[in-house]
Amino acid sequence: SDEKSLNFLEEIIEADLAAGKYQQIITRFPPEPNGYLHMGHATSICLNFGLTKKYGGYTNLRFDDTNPVTEDTEYVESIKADIKWLGFEWKHELYASDYFETLYEFAVQLIKKGLAYVDDSTSEEIAEQKGTPTQPGTNSPYRNRSIEENLLLFADMRAGKYKDGEKVLRAKIDMAHPNMLMRDPLMYRIKHAHHHRTGNKWCIYPMYDFAHGQSDSIEKITHSICTLEFVPHRELYDWFIEKLEIYPSHQYEFARRNLSYTVMSKRKLLQLVNEKYVAGWDDPRMPTISAMRRRGYLPESIRDFCDGIGVAKRENLVDIGLLEFYVRERLNKVALRRMVVFDPLKITITNYPDTVEWLESENNPEDASAGSRTIPFSKEIYIEKEDFMEQPPKKYFRLAPGQMVRLKSAYIIQCNEVIKDSEGNVVELKCTYIPESKSGNDTSGIHVKGTLHWVSIQHAIPIEVRLYDRLFNVENVDAAEGDFKDYYNPNSLEVIPKVFAEPSLQNATLNERFQFIRKGYFCLDIDAQNGSLIFNRTVGLKDTWAK
Ligand code: ATP
Ligand code: MG
Ligand code: MG
Repeated sequence: SDEKSLNFLEEIIEADLAAGKYQQIITRFPPEPNGYLHMGHATSICLNFGLTKKYGGYTNLRFDDTNPVTEDTEYVESIKADIKWLGFEWKHELYASDYFETLYEFAVQLIKKGLAYVDDSTSEEIAEQKGTPTQPGTNSPYRNRSIEENLLLFADMRAGKYKDGEKVLRAKIDMAHPNMLMRDPLMYRIKHAHHHRTGNKWCIYPMYDFAHGQSDSIEKITHSICTLEFVPHRELYDWFIEKLEIYPSHQYEFARRNLSYTVMSKRKLLQLVNEKYVAGWDDPRMPTISAMRRRGYLPESIRDFCDGIGVAKRENLVDIGLLEFYVRERLNKVALRRMVVFDPLKITITNYPDTVEWLESENNPEDASAGSRTIPFSKEIYIEKEDFMEQPPKKYFRLAPGQMVRLKSAYIIQCNEVIKDSEGNVVELKCTYIPESKSGNDTSGIHVKGTLHWVSIQHAIPIEVRLYDRLFNVENVDAAEGDFKDYYNPNSLEVIPKVFAEPSLQNATLNERFQFIRKGYFCLDIDAQNGSLIFNRTVGLKDTWAK
C-alpha cells in the first residue's frame, strides 16, 4: 500500500488532535541569519512545513536574531529565497528581535517573583559556580540580592551603565540541579553591539534559552521542533513558560541530519568561503540550498530526499548517493536530451554529399509532450575519442575498423580507414554511411548494437563544462582526525573550457534541464553571460562513485 508508517512526530500530532488538544497545528522554522541554509536546514524546513500542510495549520518563519554580532540582512534575504524555492510558504515572517521589549518585560516579571537576579560574577566565576555533572555547584554571592535592587540594576543594564561582561541576569533555580542547564542559567548578557534590525537600541541581549521558548509561546507554536542537542534545554524551556504562566508550547527533538563527504555546519561552510576553498556560498560543490539550485537540482528532488530519509531519533550519516538518486529520478523525467562531444575525434563520411540535412530527434523519450528538435548532419562530424578502438576486445559495440555503429537519430556508419599522425595517434576516421538506415525510416535490414552521440563539425558550438566531484575525500568529514579542510578534495572541480555541442544549446535558459546523452545531467550556470555558454554537470547518469 501507499500508506507510509507515521513518524514519531506525526504520531504525537495525531494523538494531540484526537484528544482535542489543539484546533490547528502551528510550527516554526527558526534560522539564525548567520549563514546560508544547507541540506540540514532543508530537512527541518520539509519537516516543519510538511507537518502543517498535512495536518492543517501553518508554519512561521522566525529569524532567531538574538545574537547581534554574527547576523546580517544578506543572510535574511537568501534564507527567504531558499525556502520559497523549496516550495514552501510561511504564514508570518517574524524576528525574535521584535520580541525584545516583551522579553525584557518577561524578565522583569521573573525578577519580581524572586526568580531572577543580577550577577556581577565574571564568566570564569560563573563557570566555577556551576560545579560538575557529578558535583553540585555553589551559589553566587549575588544570588540573594533584593528584588528592588535587582530591578534597579537590570534597568541600569538596559540603560547602558555597564560594560560588556560586567553584569548578567540569571534565573534563580537550583545550583545543585542534576541538569547543569538548570543551575541558574544566564538570561541576559551585556553586548554593546549594533544589531542588524534594532540598531543601537539595545545593549543587553537575551540568551537563546530565554528567547526561543518565549518566542514560541508568543506565537502560540504548538509543536516546536528542534535537533537533539536541545534535549537538555527542554526542562528549562518548560520552566520559563511555567513560571511566566504563558502559552505552553512544547519542544520535540529529532536527529540532526548529516551527509557523507561534506560538512554542514555554517561555521565550517563559512571557513570554506572565506579561505577560498570554494567560490562562494553558492559554489555548486557546497551543500547549501543555493548551491544545489545553481548546480541544477530540482526542489522536488530535495523534498523527495527529505521525505525519503524521514525523521530519526538518533544521529547518522546519510549517503549523499541517496540524494543524487532522487536528483536523477526527477531530472530523467524533464531533462531535454542533447548531444555534446567532450573529447572529439573527427569522422569524414566519404560517401555523404556536401550538403546539410536537418534530422529530427526527440527531446525526451520519457515524455512525448516534450516534442522534438532538429539537428544538422553533414559530411564531417565529431564522435568521442573513447568511442573508437583500433583493436577492440570481443563484444565491443562501438566503432572499430570494419565495424558498424548507429549515430543517434541519424544513420549507420562503417569505419573503413584510420588516419594517424606522425606519432601514431589516431586523428581521423574515414567512414561510409548506409543511406537506407536513417533513424525512424530504416529499411537497411542491418542490426547494430552500439549507438553513439555526435555533432556536425561545421555546426557545433563551443561550450564550457564544469564537472563536480565530492567536496571532501572522506565519508565522515566531521569524525575525521585533525582539521576538516585537510580532507578537501582538490579535484572536486574540473573545468573543460571547450567541448562541442549541438547548436540548439545556443538558446539554453537557466530554467531548462538537459541530459547530455551518455554524459550526465547539465544546466546552464549563472556565470554564463553575454552569449558565453557555461554548463554545470548536476549529476552523472549512474552512480559511478566507487564504494
Ligand atoms: P549550524 O550548526 O549549521 O549553524 P544551526 O542549528 O545553528 O546549524 P540554525 O540557523 O539555528 O542553524 O537552524 C535553524 C533550524 O534548522 C533549527 O531548528 C535547527 O535545528 C535546524 N537544523 C540545522 N542544521 C540541521 C541539520 N543538520 N539537520 C536537521 N536540522 C537542522
Ligand atoms: Mg541555532
Ligand atoms: Mg549555529
